Amino acid sequence: MEVEIVKKYVYGFHEGTTEMKSLLGGKGANLGEMTSIGLPVPSGFTVTTEACNQYYEEGGRLWEELKGEILAHLRNLEEKMGKKLGTSQNPLLVSVRSGSAVSMPGMMDTILNLGLNDISVEGLVSATNNPRFAYDSYRRFIQMFGDVVLEIPKYKFDSILEKKKAEKGIEEDTKLTAEDLQDIIEKYKKVVKKETGLDFPQDAKEQLFMSVEAVFKSWNNPRAKVYRRLNDIPDVLGTAVNIQSMVFGNMGDTSGTGVAFTRDPSTGENKLFGEFLMNAQGEDVVAGIRTPRPIIELKAKMPNAYDKFKEVAELLEAHYKDMQDIEFTIENQELYILQTRNGKRTALAAVNIAVDMYKEGKLSKEEAIMRVDPLQVEQLLHPTFKEKELAQAVVITKGLPASSGAATGKIYFTPEDVVNANNRGEKAILVRTETSPEDIEGMVASEGILTARGGMTSHAAVVARGMGKCCIAGAGDVRIDEQDKTFKVGGKLYKEGEYISLDGNQGVVYEGKIATEESQLTENFLELMKWADALRRLKIRTNADTPRDTKQAIEFGAEGIGLCRTEHMFFEESRIFVMRKMILSRREEERRNALAQLLPMQREDFVEIFRAMGDRPVTIRLLDPPLHEFLPHEEEDIKHLAEKMQVPYRQLLEVVEDLKEMNPMLGHRGCRLAVTYPEIYEMQVQAIIEAAIIVKEEDGIDVIPEIMIPLVGELKELQYNKDIVLRKAREVIEEQGVDLNYLIGTMIEVPRAAITADDIATEAEFFSFGTNDLTQMTFGYSRDDAGKFIKEYKEKNILEKDPFQRIDRKGVGKLMEIAVKLGKEARPDIKLGICGEHGGDPNSIEFCHILGLDYVSCSPYRVPVARLAAAQAAINNKGQSK
Ligand code: PEP
Ligand code: MG
Repeated sequence: MEVEIVKKYVYGFHEGTTEMKSLLGGKGANLGEMTSIGLPVPSGFTVTTEACNQYYEEGGRLWEELKGEILAHLRNLEEKMGKKLGTSQNPLLVSVRSGSAVSMPGMMDTILNLGLNDISVEGLVSATNNPRFAYDSYRRFIQMFGDVVLEIPKYKFDSILEKKKAEKGIEEDTKLTAEDLQDIIEKYKKVVKKETGLDFPQDAKEQLFMSVEAVFKSWNNPRAKVYRRLNDIPDVLGTAVNIQSMVFGNMGDTSGTGVAFTRDPSTGENKLFGEFLMNAQGEDVVAGIRTPRPIIELKAKMPNAYDKFKEVAELLEAHYKDMQDIEFTIENQELYILQTRNGKRTALAAVNIAVDMYKEGKLSKEEAIMRVDPLQVEQLLHPTFKEKELAQAVVITKGLPASSGAATGKIYFTPEDVVNANNRGEKAILVRTETSPEDIEGMVASEGILTARGGMTSHAAVVARGMGKCCIAGAGDVRIDEQDKTFKVGGKLYKEGEYISLDGNQGVVYEGKIATEESQLTENFLELMKWADALRRLKIRTNADTPRDTKQAIEFGAEGIGLCRTEHMFFEESRIFVMRKMILSRREEERRNALAQLLPMQREDFVEIFRAMGDRPVTIRLLDPPLHEFLPHEEEDIKHLAEKMQVPYRQLLEVVEDLKEMNPMLGHRGCRLAVTYPEIYEMQVQAIIEAAIIVKEEDGIDVIPEIMIPLVGELKELQYNKDIVLRKAREVIEEQGVDLNYLIGTMIEVPRAAITADDIATEAEFFSFGTNDLTQMTFGYSRDDAGKFIKEYKEKNILEKDPFQRIDRKGVGKLMEIAVKLGKEARPDIKLGICGEHGGDPNSIEFCHILGLDYVSCSPYRVPVARLAAAQAAINNKGQSK
């Protein structure tokens, strides 16, 4: 007998656990988990993320079986609560909330008080004996449902509410009477009728289905899409929908609602941190409409509820072994937990929390390391304001230090203006009464955010912290006039385009520009890095070509240079002329003369870099870019150069034209240059070897330079270039009569080199994967032009991620894997590294760990990121690496 297995799309909270996150979403899974550990969670059920995906498969409609399953769970809920949705006797009200596997705060939709209609509102009046509360709930529901589900512009409702308050001469919503609210309800219903042509739906089940659909749809609203793109959240995850019986924080003065973190999300300090509002519903806190009170004040107002909350907070943190962000409601003194999740935090807080929790015995070192997002670490390395300048700066006002950092920029009042300013290359500060999710693009493009309203858990605060962007929230003295594009503090006016500075650590707003300085690495940070170093297998090198960058990278923990791009050394004012003379030479002798002038400059650079690096390894790459990159292209500049070189303009123009190529990145560059002009590499090798000898003799540092030949695709090409290097190196060493070891290796950046790596390894002592070019040539995407279309590729789900940022494991990664295998077969002790931009990307670093490379190399500011990512890769792949 065949048994038909029917897929389950709806789960009661009692059926869920944390492990079911991808199916139930983070919120649903945590509600399940909290229910099973016995916390006071209002009952409910979750419609799965699979149902969301199926909804889209069905062409954007709820299918009958799903509706049936939802109704069955609704009946269970009604039985459990002893209440019924939409009836006049003791009516059940529910909230309908989104919740995907990865938290996307404020990006999708929520509907509260669902189940109210003209009949059940009367039921609520008698059940609570509180007509004001009942009508206020109904008023809120129509407004929210109207906005989220029926897509009626919010202001159409707001203006009715505002008008009523003006009529009555009151400022606060709480002063409206039951009669006022009844009048507002009638007016709201008229808005619905006018805007949609239909009456406000009175059937509570229909309300429920429409709301579930609206949440599914909100998965694809523009702000959610932007947020996903920013945070690398795949579009295919879908959102779950949580339907939960309502508890009420707006039942009067023994009720309230709030949000709290178990530790300070800005600094990591171990104390309860959060805010609450008396007599309010959740959206009042998050929307920043009324400025909430610090959680500690709850202790005096409702000591029992406060103590209970503190106890639950501690329990949840211990249970999840991480700082929690908890939403709660108190209904007539009774505490309910509506949600918990791992709290978003600044980089500073992330590090402090991880290290503290280890010291408190709550986490192992490995767990502590896994708690910190490597990409976030980069924020810690960025500058703060210069003390001296700060001391003299004029304070405009103070707000809440919502997200740390230092930002200076020009004032703009709308997200669009910020984006435009950013496109013009200006640094912009977004100044706004309060932000909402639609503002996200402007927030991304800004240097920092200043809001006049809202608390530490307002939209601006939460989102900025997640982005690692400096933010000051709730600066109440700031009076914004969006129309005039000005703001006033006291009597003083600030206009669009003027500079201000934000200190996100203290919440202070300053006039004008303030210079910044490098950050101080905290003790906790250094400690965490030490733990990471002890756990990682990969070495971390840096891509650096100036002594300054080299020193910076060492400070951040670089263990060598993986790529010194020598071409960067020729762009300096004093050198570019000689370089151009070399390039424009007609005869070898002329070229050699110019090279002879460049030689001491190169040698001096290498001496400084070797000195800075001490006995750490240094890989120097011989000249790589097409030569025309060094030449002027504008007529004026060419004329100017011709004069300086004392050659006729026409003649120079001809040479410049001659060097132009159709596809320069696939043209005469890399080792191909030295096949034509061996003297270029000869000069560079001479400079490297002489510099190494100087440092050896003068400083006693045993440098073993690693000379790297770029863009090799064929063994004979490598042999030809290696001969140049060997001949010159031997000549210099012999001439100077010293002993010096050096290595000769190649980049693997042409696909042919990867698949003939066994050949190549017979001549190369090391491989360094140049994954920028390897990606370019494997996909056939020009690395300089791909930006134009990759965004669309991601939006249309052709690519999940830009392959120039994260290694495409399937294709480019396959070539790397082949090269590693073949290379090791031919030369078992071959050194393997990566120096493309991917060397600083945590996901790609994990791949390099899995491949068994010896090191990754990245820009100096990415070095700590890479150290942590390498440790996480080792932890994640214990016992699996080669
Ligand atoms: C590469 O191609 O990955 C590389 C490091 O070289 P460049 O970016 O200089 O071409
Ligand atoms: Mg390259």
